[in-house]
Amino acid sequence: MWRWMVVAAFVLLCLYALVPNLLTRLCRLWALRTGPVRREVALTFDDGPDAKYTGRLLDALKAVGVRATFFVVGQKALAHPDLIRRMIAEGHQVEVHGWTHAFVPLLPPGRTLRQFRRTTDALGRTFCLRPRFYRPTWGALNAVTLCAALRTHRLVTWSIMVGDWRVQPPGQVLQRVVERLHPGAIIVLHDSDETLGAEAGAPEQVIALIPELARRVRASGYSFRTLDEWY
Ligand SMILES: [Zn+2]
Repeated sequence: MWRWMVVAAFVLLCLYALVPNLLTRLCRLWALRTGPVRREVALTFDDGPDAKYTGRLLDALKAVGVRATFFVVGQKALAHPDLIRRMIAEGHQVEVHGWTHAFVPLLPPGRTLRQFRRTTDALGRTFCLRPRFYRPTWGALNAVTLCAALRTHRLVTWSIMVGDWRVQPPGQVLQRVVERLHPGAIIVLHDSDETLGAEAGAPEQVIALIPELARRVRASGYSFRTLDEWY
């Protein structure tokens, strides 16, 4: 009897924590991975706002006239409201990453729902925003999050991810982004090094690459879009 209970528990766990990710990531169902097939790309940043990096990243984006989409952590947004207000004032899009940077698949239903609902509500209440996009932390979902988020948000993943949370040799992050460019690319970079697995100082290379990235993207005939300009 207990064996069947173990098997049943395993099956339920797979349905709850594994299958939604297979569907969204491998089968590419429901989650936006790219934009329209035009010579346009979306630059997106996860895990901020961060007191050490985000302000300088905004300076770099402003200097080259690029508007981006920021998937923010709710707790950090409330801790650094001036950075969120600056994003809004400078034409960037602010969307939902999670309340904390939790691993959603293994959270119980109540806590998993709070990860994006609480962030959505906080961005609305504090900054009068109406977030429409949700990129779950680690890009990972569970069944409850998937069903609930699809009713109120568009799920977003990415098509270009280059491991910028690790400190890489100079120029490597830029090179890896540029060589993967394609029409409708959604590029994900990170403006915080506080996430588990991130290396201290890694966002410095992200800030540093912005001028050359903007130049090379445009030289290849692409322009930058925010997600709400696409959808
Ligand atoms: Zn993240």
